[in-house]
Amino acid sequence: MKDNSQSLDFDREHIWHPYTSMRDPLPVYPVKGASGVRIELEDGRRLIDGMSSWWAAIHGYNHPVLNEAVRKQLEKMSHVMFGGFTHEPAVRLAEKLVDLTPGPLQKVFFSDSGSVSVEVAIKMALQYHHAAGRPQKNRLLTVRSGYHGDTFAAMSVCDPVTGMHGLFSGVLPQQLFAEAPACGFHDVWNNDSIGDFRRQVEMHHREIAAVILEPVVQGAGGMRFYSPGYLVRVRELCDRYDLLLIFDEIATGFGRTGKMFALEHADVVPDILCIGKALTGGYMTLAATLTNGDVSGVISNAEPGVFMHGPTFMANPLACAVASASIDLLAESDWRNSVRVIEAQLASGLEPCRSVPGVADVRVLGAIGVVELEQPVDMAVIQKRFVEKGVWVRPFGRLVYLMPPYIISTEELHVLTDAVCEVIASIQHDKRSG
Ligand SMILES: *Cc1c(COP(=O)(O)O)cnc(C)c1O
Repeated sequence: MKDNSQSLDFDREHIWHPYTSMRDPLPVYPVKGASGVRIELEDGRRLIDGMSSWWAAIHGYNHPVLNEAVRKQLEKMSHVMFGGFTHEPAVRLAEKLVDLTPGPLQKVFFSDSGSVSVEVAIKMALQYHHAAGRPQKNRLLTVRSGYHGDTFAAMSVCDPVTGMHGLFSGVLPQQLFAEAPACGFHDVWNNDSIGDFRRQVEMHHREIAAVILEPVVQGAGGMRFYSPGYLVRVRELCDRYDLLLIFDEIATGFGRTGKMFALEHADVVPDILCIGKALTGGYMTLAATLTNGDVSGVISNAEPGVFMHGPTFMANPLACAVASASIDLLAESDWRNSVRVIEAQLASGLEPCRSVPGVADVRVLGAIGVVELEQPVDMAVIQKRFVEKGVWVRPFGRLVYLMPPYIISTEELHVLTDAVCEVIASIQHDKRSG
């Protein structure tokens, strides 16, 4: 970007950003590069990254090992169609994923984004029951406050309010929603928490193909942490009533909650698992849907005998190569300890926010720290203040949250948590003084 203001004018006039207006877009910051936990703006400022580019950049940016993996693969081929061909990067990555996930999950379907991996999971569940002679089982049951992506089937299982179902009613499939799990992650398990979910299952199981949940951490639908005990009861109910269980670990996978996958908190094995985001260490877009031999077998043994999906860029070799390198890098690092250290520091560093008027809750799990406010933030104001403090934090609604790269240092994380406390205190102060 040579001429900054011209580029920004063009951007403003022609380019959609995520969830933005074309009439009154909020300012965007031109980025020149990123390295380690720093994002460098065109004007030379180097921001400490508190977002990992939406859960993805777990090793930080511009990592020499990941760069080398892409470079090496680029010299062989950047892409080739996956229909009729296979290649080493896909096979190696699938091996790693089968190895890393619970035993029964042996079959891997690659796709290009998290939303598509959820579409694939939903299609698998519907095709499974269709193949098994139960075509009436074609709805999904989920909980409120969830987020599963922006495409239509994925959107249909997002929280009906924040997912804006009203806007698309009539075209969105009508799914079933139970109350969001009320029992917190650290609370003693309370059986009432599963009551509404159980009622929905008992009432509707004849028409339910599958349950879909983000295990333990609900991400973009509210950043809520709930009891692993919930998942144990959900698994029991799914078994009893012949429902498939889909776990969406697109946000939680690859260590973020302190376990490699959040399902390990409950020791529950789903029938279908979606992963994405940190899969490539944030380098490229890639996702995968894993399932067991029962699901793949039933689908393959009935008309039309194939699973009906096949993205053009399925198993892109560059993405697969960097994903394998990212998984190796994680395995070689002491990520469990890094996440534990980040967790402790987030807890102590965000604690002062608790006493700020207008703060409803402060919670931490793994390398995720959340400050929930009583009122939605003014994005234009708060974003600017964070950038002025030298950090990149991107709140949404009433939530200001941190999920830094695992390589962040104690000093850098201090800057982040101090910035969150100070900026929240300053906006709450401004609010009160009108
Ligand atoms: C981000 C996310 C998705 C959607 O992934 P995209 O790559 O943005 O399509 C789905 N589910 C969860 C839990 C997510 O966090």
